[in-house]
Amino acid sequence: MAKQPMLKFVTVERDMPEKRSADVRNDDFLEIYAPFIKAKAEEQASRCSQCGVPYCQSHCPLHNNIPDWLNMTATGRLEEAYAISQATNTFPEICGRICPQDRLCEGGCVIENSGHGTVTIGAVEKYITDTAWENGWVKPITPLAERAESVGIIGAGPGGLAAADMLRRAGVQVTVYDRYDRAGGLLTYGIPGFKLEKDVVMKRNTQLTDSGVTLKLNCNVGEDISFDEIRAAHDAVIIATGVYKSRDLGGPGAGAKGIVKALDYLTASNRLNFGDTVPEYDSGELNADGKKVVVIGGGDTAMDCVRTAIRQGAESVKCLYRRDRANMPGSQRETQNAEEEGVVFEWLAAPKGFTGDAVDGVMVQRMRLGAPDASGRQSPEVIEGADYVEEADLVIKALGFEPEDLPTLWNQPDLPVTRWGTVKAEFTTGATDLDGVYAVGDIVRGASLGVWAIRDGRDCAEAILKKFDAAKAVAAE
Ligand SMILES: Cc1cc2nc3c(=O)[nH]c(=O)nc-3n(C[C@H](O)[C@H](O)[C@H](O)COP(=O)(O)OP(=O)(O)OC[C@H]3O[C@@H](n4cnc5c(N)ncnc54)[C@H](O)[C@@H]3O)c2cc1C
Ligand code: SF4
Repeated sequence: MAKQPMLKFVTVERDMPEKRSADVRNDDFLEIYAPFIKAKAEEQASRCSQCGVPYCQSHCPLHNNIPDWLNMTATGRLEEAYAISQATNTFPEICGRICPQDRLCEGGCVIENSGHGTVTIGAVEKYITDTAWENGWVKPITPLAERAESVGIIGAGPGGLAAADMLRRAGVQVTVYDRYDRAGGLLTYGIPGFKLEKDVVMKRNTQLTDSGVTLKLNCNVGEDISFDEIRAAHDAVIIATGVYKSRDLGGPGAGAKGIVKALDYLTASNRLNFGDTVPEYDSGELNADGKKVVVIGGGDTAMDCVRTAIRQGAESVKCLYRRDRANMPGSQRETQNAEEEGVVFEWLAAPKGFTGDAVDGVMVQRMRLGAPDASGRQSPEVIEGADYVEEADLVIKALGFEPEDLPTLWNQPDLPVTRWGTVKAEFTTGATDLDGVYAVGDIVRGASLGVWAIRDGRDCAEAILKKFDAAKAVAAE
């Protein structure tokens, strides 16, 4: 009888790929986890219990066929594992790196819930597709036949690019417009290299252009080309512009020099790591070197800022958050990584204002958690008489993002938006009330996750293809 390759969770402990020590990783922007070696990936994949009803799959926004590709990995059938993984996920190696797995697939893992420690699903997913790239299994798309229909996609983030990939596979003519000089959206300019090295994203961009997708970069829709022109040039248009308006802070001194926005700071750092000239970094405006840095916020963007500041050589890095650790929105894994790297967290601390013409301190109010609100979340309340000043010569605001006002910017009063400014679109298809206009990703959901943008892009492409096919069938009658 063949040896049972799976269900090893009873004898094999959960083990992540080796994490580089903080004193080594603090000196560079490379990913903090070393790649799995083959034997380790096979061993970790073999822990899967091959559930009949796989909760990991239902907790993954893409419903990836996880038990199957874990089985293929454990039995050394990596090319098949790659084919299964790529069939449901446009960018598996990216999701393997950046998904908050503890809240998604691994959070649903049955062996985790029985106390054995989850299968390292994300790390194996990354391993499979990294190996596929190394072996030349990832190829440009060659559609079986070309189609006459064309789709214009505004925004080259994961949502727009996932749609581009699916449409191109079906032979559709695809043009992606983006105001940046490189495609990838926040994968390129938001998320730092220590979570996602940039060559991983650039390889995917090249794969798409090699597949016949046209990328029109440095093209700001609303300025360089109008939305109406794009609509007239294509049979369908997908809006995938993400959310970029930073939430702001008021209070005395809020306009002082040295108080900067998180995305400006992270973009400058990512550009520098591409080798670009970044005057705002050279001038010191967006450079933490030698400074006392205070980051305000408790989400993943704040975690990316504090860890970037450490790598830029800050004298000290503090993170202020108005709730406590248990109530922060950012992932616990990233908070732990930040602490290992030397970041100090000031929980239950909210900014009230700033001191200095060029900022030299943050006026901080101490908070406590009060009664739960309607959503069940405890609201922070000020502790009177406990204010203090936190020294700072660079303050980074990481308080979240909102959508830009697209109907005004694009002169499209009929583009339907919600009261939060996100585009109103059907979640399953991305269709808006404007004929032939779709929307996907953060611009629909508000600030969310890469994997959800991919899911939206794929669903939307499928809906557009159905519509094209239906129109063809009518024309043929
Ligand atoms: C700092 C940071 C860290 C994050 N970390 C994670 C993480 O670890 N894991 C995770 O899953 N998610 C993370 N996210 C969230 C994730 O990056 C987003 O949810 C995802 O990128 C959204 O994809 P999208 O395609 O909707 O938009 P985006 O990635 O924002 O792409 C939108 C694109 O549209 C372009 N665009 C906008 N307006 C125009 C216009 N008028 N004309 C032309 N082009 C335009 C932009 O230049 C951009 O390239 C993070 C976000 C940030 C800010
Ligand atoms: S895409 Fe994300 S949630 Fe789905 S299996 Fe991969 S890491 Fe898990």
